[in-house]
Amino acid sequence: MVYQSFLIKYAEIGTKGKNRYLFEDALIKQIKNALKKVEGSFIASKESGRIYVQALSEYDYDEVIDALKKVFGIAWICPMLQLEDKDYENLKKVVVDYIDQVYPDKHFTFKVDSRRADKNYPVRSEQMNCDFGEVILNAFPETSVDVHHPDVLVHVEIRKVVNIYSLMIPGPGGMPVGTNGKATLLLSGGIDSPVAGYMIAKRGVKIDAVYFHAPPYTSDRAKQKVVDLAKLVARYSGPIPLHVVNFTDIQLYIYEQCPHEELTIIMRRYMMKIAEEIAKKSDSLALITGESIGQVASQTVQSLAATNEVCTMPVFRPLIGFDKQEIIDISEKIGTFETSIQPFEDCCTIFVAKHPVTKPNLNIIHKSETKLEEKIDEMVRTALETEEVIWCD
Ligand code: ATP
Ligand code: MG
Repeated sequence: MVYQSFLIKYAEIGTKGKNRYLFEDALIKQIKNALKKVEGSFIASKESGRIYVQALSEYDYDEVIDALKKVFGIAWICPMLQLEDKDYENLKKVVVDYIDQVYPDKHFTFKVDSRRADKNYPVRSEQMNCDFGEVILNAFPETSVDVHHPDVLVHVEIRKVVNIYSLMIPGPGGMPVGTNGKATLLLSGGIDSPVAGYMIAKRGVKIDAVYFHAPPYTSDRAKQKVVDLAKLVARYSGPIPLHVVNFTDIQLYIYEQCPHEELTIIMRRYMMKIAEEIAKKSDSLALITGESIGQVASQTVQSLAATNEVCTMPVFRPLIGFDKQEIIDISEKIGTFETSIQPFEDCCTIFVAKHPVTKPNLNIIHKSETKLEEKIDEMVRTALETEEVIWCD
């Protein structure tokens, strides 16, 4: 079966009332962006409150479905047969032919759902349901009708053209990227943060990312892994500018001046501070991390509170209540897992103490941080001034 077009069904956008058109337009824009990477020529358009994708040239079906499955805001992708010839007798033949091609195994129950948007069409929809049902039953006696729970629901719509579809391929859901502002993701090379970025982008949020690099303690290969992960997330979120911040001097300074068991917490506080500065400059309104309660010493509730204290922006932690296995399941689904588990050093683990504090006391942390006063502001400024931005698409 060669489909010339796809009906795109959206979910939550439907509840947006007067603003709905803004969400529809954003969805069309994201669909166009996604299809730019697919060979062939397509148009995505809105017509009578519905979104269609039309192929204007030959294309690879799997590639198109794969691209559309990554566009947030799409609930269902319905490949459609479209024909201009509305002749009723011919239509019956086309419906039978459609069923024959799409369902090689005819052991299924079905129901026909006809719609007559073109009210001038001479046959009423109830009549069409009966007639199309009858021709299908006659052509394929193995099938049967089930009007309550059919295996196959055959849609026949008489509009400007005739649309026939029955397949519904699930999209990723969520909201179109660009409908909900921008947030800055703290992206490490681990399993969690790419998933966190995916989840927030899924709610329509544009993503910027920050990676803290600590050469020579972390290698170029470790940095490349983060770039690769940003590119994988960008398949869903659209292009991500990745800010690479050189964190080595700050890390070494904290290591020299502060108690080693507090190192991770103090380091994470500076990561958040710097990320927030970068976020402000790029009009981001929030930070995103891959933290989850209790996963490691720096993610106990006390540690999270200590890290959070330095932030004035909201910090989104979409994985906060997830178990590791639940996070892994999502990372496998979105295709970041294999890259995340490549064994490259992480700047957090290099200086990690044997017994990091798990219940940091903020007064003690504040006191330790006074030991950084001499140089830290200058170091933070340098880190911000020397950031490298890599576009990941
Ligand atoms: P991940 O799997 O995302 O690396 P993790 O389990 O290793 O997380 P931590 O190392 O404690 O946990 O980091 C917690 C969060 O802090 C990460 O999810 C990420 O958002 C951020 N983070 C950690 N290291 C870096 C880094 N080098 N650059 C940017 N963000 C980082
Ligand atoms: Mg990590």
